[in-house]
This record gives sequence, structure tokens and C-alpha cells, in this order.
Amino acid sequence: MVDQSDSFDFDVVVIGAGFGGITALHKMRQAGLRVRVFESAPSVGGTWYWNRYPGARVDIESLEYSLPFPDLQRDWQWSEKYASQPELLSYMNWVVDRLELRDGIELETRLTSAAFDSEREGWNLVLERAGSAREFTTRYLLLATGFLSVPNVPKIPGLTDFTGEYLHSTAWPETGVNLAGKRVGVLGTAASGVQIIQTVAPTVEHLTVFQRTANWCSPLRNQAMPPEYQKWVHDNYEMIRELEYASPGSGAVLVGNVLNPPKDRVGAGLSREELYEEWELRWRAGGPHLGRSYSDVIRDREVNAHLRDFLSEKIRELVDDPETARKLIPVHPPLTRRPPGDTNYYQTYNRPNVELVDVKADPIDRVVEDGVLLKSGAHHQLDVFVLATGFDAGSGAALSIDIRGRGGLSLSEHWAHGARTQLGLMTSGFPNLFFLNGAQSPGVHFSPPLLGAFQVEYILRVLEELEASGRPVIDVSLESEERWTNIVGDIYGATLIPETDSWWMGANIPGKPRRPVAFAGGFPAYRRYAEEAFDGKLSGYVVGADTPSVSTA
Ligand code: NAP
Repeated sequence: MVDQSDSFDFDVVVIGAGFGGITALHKMRQAGLRVRVFESAPSVGGTWYWNRYPGARVDIESLEYSLPFPDLQRDWQWSEKYASQPELLSYMNWVVDRLELRDGIELETRLTSAAFDSEREGWNLVLERAGSAREFTTRYLLLATGFLSVPNVPKIPGLTDFTGEYLHSTAWPETGVNLAGKRVGVLGTAASGVQIIQTVAPTVEHLTVFQRTANWCSPLRNQAMPPEYQKWVHDNYEMIRELEYASPGSGAVLVGNVLNPPKDRVGAGLSREELYEEWELRWRAGGPHLGRSYSDVIRDREVNAHLRDFLSEKIRELVDDPETARKLIPVHPPLTRRPPGDTNYYQTYNRPNVELVDVKADPIDRVVEDGVLLKSGAHHQLDVFVLATGFDAGSGAALSIDIRGRGGLSLSEHWAHGARTQLGLMTSGFPNLFFLNGAQSPGVHFSPPLLGAFQVEYILRVLEELEASGRPVIDVSLESEERWTNIVGDIYGATLIPETDSWWMGANIPGKPRRPVAFAGGFPAYRRYAEEAFDGKLSGYVVGADTPSVSTA
């Protein structure tokens, strides 16, 4: 690195020890940089440390949802096709030990503020550990703080009056909670809630599910990992990773124990029978693959309506009570929200100890000492109340830190109308600050470990250019982030997604600007944009300049 860096405590400080942070530490150390990772949790793992609620598991195949490091990926044996949270956490600890990264990670240390020092062209950081503040300086700052990491805790009146046990899906006690014989209530019926509900129902005395919005679930069909399948993937990893990176969808190319890369085909013009045949195959294969069947299923109203009918029929078949089935059939078009992959979720409602309560029709009035009271006066007695109410997605983690760029500009001021970035990587006026798997990146529409690996390599190339320029300070122009924000918006705008309230649209957090939080144009397009910016002599970036509104493009 350039000489000036030596006057900083670190070349790079990375915040967060999830997939992104671990990748950054490994690759940046290999590049000879002085890197330190700070993590607020007492463990590495990021989302897989925090989300340890009953039933938490990944719904992209673990063989795909893992770090694409050629020297490592054949050496870990997954026990299940869709790994559970404990196995994912073990995997991440194994990676950290195997790559000898542990000495580069400081746990239980939270970044509280970061201020750009324009004279020294680097960052002054304040971190808190065990109640005391520590200060560090770094040339570059990488926020690998996760797309889905800041919990959404709705302000429900009376929550503090509850005398039973109150839990949030994102902060489950490490020691576990014994739910046997208890009256349990779950608020939230999306990916986290679905996993909790289907897992705890057989153990609890009574389960009350408070549903505001039903979601379209499809079966995961998890199974013990077939050894010959794992071996085949290990033997073919190079080709599989290439296909994943070439995938315009979620980056998953394995479907039902076979390789099934997305084909570029549309559903419009096909008969209902033809569409149903394809969806039936995918329903049986398991995993979140219905959306990958036809590229227009998220755009074409007619094709999407057929998918609605297909899935509605499935719910009616699976749920005994027609009235319960009716409540479980969503109103929004399929795939306009993240569809949960489930394991007997719908069948759970056939159990005599499970009750579905529609809190859109009869909203929660308040929480009381012994349960939940609805507006109608209905009173649901509970021993345990679980909130599975999600996250402030995308921008939430960065905005929870006091970040000040050039001239003291705060990130919350700059993002007052929503996150604005170039490529989800940088934001104007905050030089030398990078986001991994951040807002407006493809993270939540692709595979976060794969995206993180690409972004870290890309950032390293940018840093090399800076080193060569002799002026290691980089910003992005206001025009470039305007352009990227429009691209992100236009891609969602060409689909049915904006019609539905979801965290994809920032609509789950009161007061949050209603805007797409992620790039949904597919990884190949993202890579193209990123490479174009790089090849055009870092176009859209501002190297060594003082005024971020000036573009080199
Ligand atoms: P989410 O998708 O935001 O769902 C939150 C749930 O809480 C929704 O049902 C929501 O209802 C409900 N809710 C929120 N505030 C409420 C309120 N004030 N009153 C009543 N209901 C309220 O959060 P999530 O389930 O944690 O999932 C977030 C994302 O994390 C997923 O989409 C996925 O990307 C990831 N995730 C993945 C997995 C996996 O891989 N298997 C598992 C868990 C999570 P409304 O819909 O009406 O707002």
C-alpha cells in the first residue's frame, strides 16, 4: 500500500464477521493489507449467530450457500441439503479457523461512530467494548454489517406489561427456550415466522399465530445430504460456481439433486396445463425455484395469475379447514415478496393445538399482562410471545451508526429519502467507505456469500488502482448514485413487485421511504455494470477529488 497508510492504525477496518466480513479479512490479508474486523456479537457468524430461533435454516442449498473458495469448498461435508443454523454457525467457525482468521477479529465490539477526516483522508472510528470507548483510525472502512441485521420491533402498546416470556426471532437466547407445554403466540408469518411456527407446533401446548399478511410458501423438501450428490457437487464445483455467477436469478442452479441452470424462457403464450406441469415438477423438487421457472412470471399478470391459482390449489389441498385455508391464501401476487420455503407449514394448521388469528381483520389492540388483546375484545392468553417481525432491511445497519462524511455530512441526512449508492458499494460524500452486501446491491436477490466474494475482489482491484494513482482516496459522484438509484428503481418498476408492501420496498418500517432496497437485475447484469465502471477508468468514481458532485465519467 501507499506510504500514507502507515500513519493509520489499519489499512482497512471491516465491521461485521458474517460471510462478507470473513471474506474481506481473508482476501485483504492475502493482498498484504493491515485489516481488522470488529463484530458486535460474541461470535463470528453474522446472521447465523443472531437468528438461532427454533427451525432456523437456509433455504438455498448449503452446497451453494457457502463460500466459493476453491481451496476450501470441497473440505466441508454438509449433513443436510438445507443446513440448519447450528450447522451454518459451525461451518463459519470452521472457515475462520481453517483460514487462521481468528486473531484478526475482535468480538463484542460495536462501531458507534465513524467520521471522515478530510485532511488525512481516512476514517476516525469510535468503537465500544464492555461499556468503554476505543478509538482507531483507518484508511478504508468496509461495512459488512448485513442486509438483514437490524431487528424491526413494532411499537405494540403494552409490550412491556407482558409478564410471560417475550422473544424476538433475531435474539433468541443462546441457551434455548423450553416451550414444551406452554401457550405460545407468534406474530409474523414470513420466512422467520414460518420456520418457527412449523417447528414449535408439535411441542407447545397451544400455538396462536397472529397473521397480518399471508405469504406464498412452497416446500423446501430438506433431507439428509445424499453422499453421492455431495461428492458430485464437490467434483464439479468449478463449473457449478460459474453457472451460479451466470445465473440471472438467485444464484441457485441445483434443483432437486440435479443441475438445472435457469433457462431463458417465458410463460406467456403457454397453456395453463403446460405452466402447471413445470410448476408441479419444481414444487416436488423443493427449494425456492418456482420463480425461476419463467422469466416473465414476475412481470406478466396472466402468467403470475396462473401461478396464484396453482399455489392456491396447493394450500386448499393441504389445509383441512376451508376457512383456515382461505385465510392462508395471500392477496398479493406470488413472488412480489420473498417466498418462504417451508416444511409442512400449511399442514401445521391441521393440528388441534394451532389457531390462526387474522390480525388484519381484527388488529392487535395491546399486549396485556397475560397475553394479547385484539380490537374486538378477543383475549389470547400466552406464556410466551414471539415476534418474528423482520428487519430494517438494506440501509438499517449503516444508519444505526453515526457516520459522517465530508464536511460532517451525516449518512442519515444523505439518505433521508432512501439509500443512494453507486452499485450498492459506495455513497457520495463518504470517501473510502465501502458496503458489502449493502443497500441497492443484488445481495438479497442473489447469494450473499457469492456476492461478497465478488465485491471484495472488486474493491481490492479499486484499491490497487488507487495505490497506483498515488492518491488513495475515492468517492462517487452524485450523478452516479442518482443513475444507480434509477436503475434499481426501474428494474423493480418493470415487475409487479412495487404493487405489494414488503421489506423489498422498504414498506415494513413506519416512516421509511418506500423505495426498492435491492438490485434485482441479476448478478450478470450487476457484474457488467461494475466492470463497465471499472474499465471506464473508474467512471462514476471520483479519485482523489474534493467535490463529490464532479464525475470522471
Ligand atoms: P419479514 O419478511 O419482514 O416478515 C415480518 C413478519 O412480521 C410479516 O409477517 C409482517 O407482517 C409481520 N409484522 C411486522 N410488523 C408487524 C406488526 N406491527 N403487526 C403485525 N405483524 C407485523 O421478516 P422475516 O420473516 O424475518 O424475513 C426477512 C427476510 O430474512 C426474509 O425475507 C429472508 O430474506 C430472510 N430470511 C431467510 C430465511 C431462510 O433462508 N430460510 C429465514 C428467515 C429469514 P406484514 O407482512 O403484514 O408486514
